[in-house]
Amino acid sequence: MNSQYELIYEGKAKKIFAHQDPDKVFIEFKDEATAFNALKKAKFEGKGELNCLISSKIFEYLIKNNIPNHYLGLKNDNTMIAQKIRIIPLEVVLRNTAYGSLCKETTFKPGKILEKPLIDFYLKNDSLNDPLLTRDRINLLKIIDDDDFEFIYNLTLKINNLLKAFFKSINLNLVDFKLEYGYNSKGEIVLGDEISPDNCRLWDLNLKNDTIVSLDKDRFRNDLGGLIDAYSEINKRIDNFIKCN
Ligand code: UDP
Repeated sequence: MNSQYELIYEGKAKKIFAHQDPDKVFIEFKDEATAFNALKKAKFEGKGELNCLISSKIFEYLIKNNIPNHYLGLKNDNTMIAQKIRIIPLEVVLRNTAYGSLCKETTFKPGKILEKPLIDFYLKNDSLNDPLLTRDRINLLKIIDDDDFEFIYNLTLKINNLLKAFFKSINLNLVDFKLEYGYNSKGEIVLGDEISPDNCRLWDLNLKNDTIVSLDKDRFRNDLGGLIDAYSEINKRIDNFIKCN
């Protein structure tokens, strides 16, 4: 983005710029990758563009399926136009299969299919290391009221059903993902942030044996290599799916 736009916020993976319309913003996706609360950092040429394009197509699919979200359009391949929202400081993680932190914190073995989706809420606070919250702590901290909690919980389940079906049709297993929500200028709760291999675990279903092939940020977290190839593969599969539907 050129300097005519005012930078309002810079996060680990995105920059937010002011739009001429006060109810909108530009979201530029960066090539930087971080993991383990930014203890591990690297730059992958083209990652920002891939995540922006993948997210935009998923947001469009969700809009078609009546899931309120902030996406309004693309400005260019690594910048989207979105509704300006006041982010709720919660990281909402839904898990279909046990992996990552769930296996470190419970006796579940990696790859265990959960009987039903598990929704975990974390406090979005880097200096506290995004701690896991309980429902009572969410109440105590007055982050959201009971009605908004129910709304977010149920919307997350609906999004999971849609995303699971979407990814299955392109031969990907949606293991888990993280969502963020916010309030728009009308006070409505909408899905924000991004939906990309940076915040979803996606395993390739093309292979018939039991090996896990991660096409997501675990390629960086676990030093597997081939991150851009994996993200490009997802983008390509989504494009093929859109062409055929
Ligand atoms: N996740 C994320 N941002 C975070 C933490 C997790 O996008 O700050 C996503 C992550 O990519 C995965 C899911 O949330 O798809 C569950 O992550 P987990 O709690 O297992 O944490 P991790 O193992 O990544 O530390």
